[in-house]
Amino acid sequence: MKQYDAVVIGAGNAGLTAATALQRGGSKTLLLERHNIPGGCATSFVRGEYEFEVALHQLSGLGTEDRPFIMRKIFANLGVMDKVEFVQEHQLYRIVVPGEIDTTLPASWSGLRRQLQSDFPSESENLARFMKLCETITLESFMMLPKARKANDEKMLKASCPNYIKYGMRSAKEVLDEHFDDENLKTILAAYWCYIGLPPSEIPFPDLAAMIYAYAAFKPWHIKGGSQAMSSALLESFMEAGGEVRFNCGAEKILTSGDKVRGVLTEDGEEIACAAVVSNASSIMTYNELLDHDHAPIAVREDFKSRRMGTSAFVIYMGLDCTPEELGVTSASNFICNTQDEEAVHAGMLTMNAPVSGMLTCYNFDDPSFAPEGKSIVSLVCLQYGDVWNDIPEEQYAQTKYEFSEKLIDVIAQTFPKIRDHIEEVEVATPLTMMRYLNTPDGAIYGFKQTPQDSELFRERIESISGLYMAGCWNNMGGFQPTYMAGESTARAVLKQLKSEKEELENA
Ligand SMILES: Cc1cc2nc3c(=O)[nH]c(=O)nc-3n(C[C@H](O)[C@H](O)[C@H](O)COP(=O)(O)OP(=O)(O)OC[C@H]3O[C@@H](n4cnc5c(N)ncnc54)[C@H](O)[C@@H]3O)c2cc1C
Repeated sequence: MKQYDAVVIGAGNAGLTAATALQRGGSKTLLLERHNIPGGCATSFVRGEYEFEVALHQLSGLGTEDRPFIMRKIFANLGVMDKVEFVQEHQLYRIVVPGEIDTTLPASWSGLRRQLQSDFPSESENLARFMKLCETITLESFMMLPKARKANDEKMLKASCPNYIKYGMRSAKEVLDEHFDDENLKTILAAYWCYIGLPPSEIPFPDLAAMIYAYAAFKPWHIKGGSQAMSSALLESFMEAGGEVRFNCGAEKILTSGDKVRGVLTEDGEEIACAAVVSNASSIMTYNELLDHDHAPIAVREDFKSRRMGTSAFVIYMGLDCTPEELGVTSASNFICNTQDEEAVHAGMLTMNAPVSGMLTCYNFDDPSFAPEGKSIVSLVCLQYGDVWNDIPEEQYAQTKYEFSEKLIDVIAQTFPKIRDHIEEVEVATPLTMMRYLNTPDGAIYGFKQTPQDSELFRERIESISGLYMAGCWNNMGGFQPTYMAGESTARAVLKQLKSEKEELENA
């Protein structure tokens, strides 16, 4: 029987990061992936002469060379900084509510403040106060909160995270309402709610604050070659360090001896022995289907009772025979909403009704090499819960997908009226596509709902099965930066376990 220190199930962002950090940290690691390429959501696919980015719209957490932020250090430790090239976006986003708002925000913290203060002079002081709060609460959440949490020290928490104490448990809507009167300004500032998948009334304020501050101060980025380039770089680094990978090879079972991991059974029927398993698959699948117990452990069942399924997405990937300028694109990232009522947009995500909002990302706006010369690659996205697609009879799927696409294009065409005239290649992904490729329940792309109650602050790492670790968007926040970070921190926990087991053996 083959023997490894650790087996990582799934080569999504968190799985790849965990595997690379484990192997580079001295643990003999096997990575199993049921798909034929690395990346999970972080992949690309080719149609005709276009290579489409599946998921990444804006990478956060990188910072510039002069002013680096946390992801630069993590990527450097993973050995991938010289394998990938990053492309900086110069705008945060353009947000359009036809007839009411059409604003493009710069990707600069001071520039953002100046522009909003000039556009909303009556809110000038409130803006200064709000932006200071976004900055301080983000720094507290990233720097001080983990320390206070680890020390389990209330006094330290109160002293080091005063803004978190006051605003950390409040919704983004409450804090926006407390600071501003102007509804247009609130809509503009809340636009990133689409990256979390819940309306501002349900998003923890620190999450929205972190997105506004981190994207504006540390810039939004694309990866040259798309997120697939980063997934391939992580895999390369993993293999250079001696890691082994198997594609088209899912894990069938996580094998235990009592409440301790002893190995993994692959779909090919091979048993592999290991001391630790990191699962990048959804926690529902990990505990209900992969674990060789009759029932998930009680702590897990209790945890699941309070969870609610997060959103999936409907995406149209388009290759256009025109330049971004010819299409009228002035910013890579665009939010187009027919209403300022985010609750109504969110309610629509639970139905097959025509979407009232959508995003358009133009990948070759800041990086012309992303598309063939004279052409463009765009993706049109509206978030949608996967459940509504489960009920569609198979024979009606193609027609339903086609009709829904037309409705999403209608939303986008209000701002980009020439879009239909330029379509050269098109591919559509529904929540069922996400289910098929990601193996996630209801095709969820960010894991469970990310409400304040679901915050990882209230969730301890479940350690019912010794040696079994979860890494990915199902135990932490969804999105690129959070899942890369989750993989890295999980690897640290596994390395600690392996080290202490080794020391115990040596001392025995
Ligand atoms: C269309 C779309 C747009 C998005 N836009 C953004 C964005 O702009 N910004 C952002 O931050 N985030 C975005 N996201 C979300 C982000 O991509 C995800 O939250 C994140 O990539 C999830 O990473 P993960 O590591 O948790 O797992 P996943 O990417 O879900 O990967 C899990 C992997 O595990 C594999 N697997 C599952 N079961 C098994 C098994 N039994 N055996 C072996 N392998 C298995 C799967 O095949 C998959 O490769 C988007 C996602 C999508 C789909």
